[in-house]
Amino acid sequence: MIDDVNNSSELFKIAETLMPGGVNSPVRAFGAVGAEPVYIDYANGSKLHSCEGKEYVDYMMSWGPLILGHANISITSAITEAAVKGSSFGANHKAEVRLAELITECMPSIEMLRLVNSGTEATMSALRLSRAVTGRDKVIKFRGCYHGHSDAFLISAGSGALTHGTPSSPGVTPGAAADTLLAEYNDLASVQECFRLNKDEVAAIIVEPVAGNMGVIPPAEGFLQGLREECDRNGALLIFDEVITGFRLGLGGAAEYYGVTPDLTTLGKIIGGGLPVGAYGGKKELLSQISPCGGVYQAGTLSGNPLACAAGIKMLELLIEHKPYRRLANMCEALTSVMEENIASSGVKACINRVGSAFTVFFGVDAVTGYAEAMSADTEMFGAYFRGMLERGIYLPPAQYEANFISTEHSVEDFEQTLVAQQEVLATLGTNA
Ligand code: PLP
Repeated sequence: MIDDVNNSSELFKIAETLMPGGVNSPVRAFGAVGAEPVYIDYANGSKLHSCEGKEYVDYMMSWGPLILGHANISITSAITEAAVKGSSFGANHKAEVRLAELITECMPSIEMLRLVNSGTEATMSALRLSRAVTGRDKVIKFRGCYHGHSDAFLISAGSGALTHGTPSSPGVTPGAAADTLLAEYNDLASVQECFRLNKDEVAAIIVEPVAGNMGVIPPAEGFLQGLREECDRNGALLIFDEVITGFRLGLGGAAEYYGVTPDLTTLGKIIGGGLPVGAYGGKKELLSQISPCGGVYQAGTLSGNPLACAAGIKMLELLIEHKPYRRLANMCEALTSVMEENIASSGVKACINRVGSAFTVFFGVDAVTGYAEAMSADTEMFGAYFRGMLERGIYLPPAQYEANFISTEHSVEDFEQTLVAQQEVLATLGTNA
């Protein structure tokens, strides 16, 4: 019956009866943009194709990993070749060793790593390892940074965030929240205060080196270096959550880009070419605490899955061969600088943050350098912008607080279409300067 339905609206109605909100990840319900979700039939290069047959220029790119575009022929061939040899072994194989080798070659701070199945698993496991090696319980995270949906990270600032956070989701216990401290991104003083009030209790700081989950916000000059110094001073580990930035900012991720070395790094979807995968890694002496070498338990039936490894190897080999980073950053700058001109001439109040090939258009604000400014963005206006762009065949991430991503497959024609659409939509938003 479902096979005959080729209409997004109808599919969503059926889905709502079968899955919470009709989706398998909340943002896909389009609730933040007041629209009905589009159902995708297939994707290729820079384009998504809906089940109705409409084509969209995609700036979501599966939330970042598809740096070489959708359905890259070399990656899909690698997956196909691997699939005919078996989709899962639950046993060791050559491809997982090769993927680990490629990652450690590109990211010198990762001497050893463990492959997992998602970014959530990677951050959750890195935190467990940090707690085990330091013998401490607490973790400092930043308001607005996202590290997946494990309990320790679903924490918001309560009245005493520097001494303990409060659960941001029902089902997270106050006990879990008590071990998570909230600091302000790009504000070193707030980190120092966390350490001062929790002396010898903090196992780690976890940070998105470039914030991507409150919209793109680059680290202020000296911020990441300052985190490194605070961790060293206080005997805590520094975890760079590079689920977005790893292999997108450059082969060495944000650590290389900003010249700051973390103790542990978490990676996600990009190292599986878009297939479900993640990893956490760092110095051998830390990783050798993981079972079976050490006592820190962490395991997974599908970890090191051969299809994900085959895709990841091909993805990394292509990135190493072509090093598309400068070109991608130039493309992003070319697109967003005309977008900025369009914004200025429209009279709509908005600003754009960009780092490498990722960017966010924030509405209703002049500049965004931290959480508070990001939160003052006009999400209603973003919703109207999103709907207008979608109507014109431009698929943006469906929430204000997300990053747009450019792939090597985006073309000049894609950008022209995007800029024409943007001008038209800005004109409908009127002036609120
Ligand atoms: N860390 C960061 C920085 C992320 O952006 C995400 C997801 O987007 C995660 C962790 C969680 O990854 P996953 O959705 O694969 O569990």
